[in-house]
Amino acid sequence: MDKKQLKQYESLLQGLRRDALNDLRRREDIHIQREADALDELQNATHRDLVVADLNRSNQKLRLIEAALLRISDGAYGECEGCEEPIPPKRLTALPWAVRCVACQELQDAQRAAGEEEEYYAPQAA
Ligand SMILES: [Zn+2]
Repeated sequence: MDKKQLKQYESLLQGLRRDALNDLRRREDIHIQREADALDELQNATHRDLVVADLNRSNQKLRLIEAALLRISDGAYGECEGCEEPIPPKRLTALPWAVRCVACQELQDAQRAAGEEEEYYAPQAA
């Protein structure tokens, strides 16, 4: 990947990181407001679970974005973790924090579903 492309993905990821942070902050605000309104305990508890699940998802996305930004500074960005081939630009544009090409991701998803994740990672650790 050339420097210009890398810069484009970097600013894309930085924008996404900003959005994710804003999103987290906004959700936390909503959470606090709802907490103050204790009219319906049960509803609040259900809502709290939803908010927590939502926050976890947003946090996870933020971590993926930050990991991608780290890979940019390490020079490892855009390379598939599985086959070490470049990840196609189309995939990176749709999913700028992707660490694997579609084929390797599908393979990993299938293996994870089959509970063979450890076997998949073993050869990489060697
Ligand atoms: Zn791959």
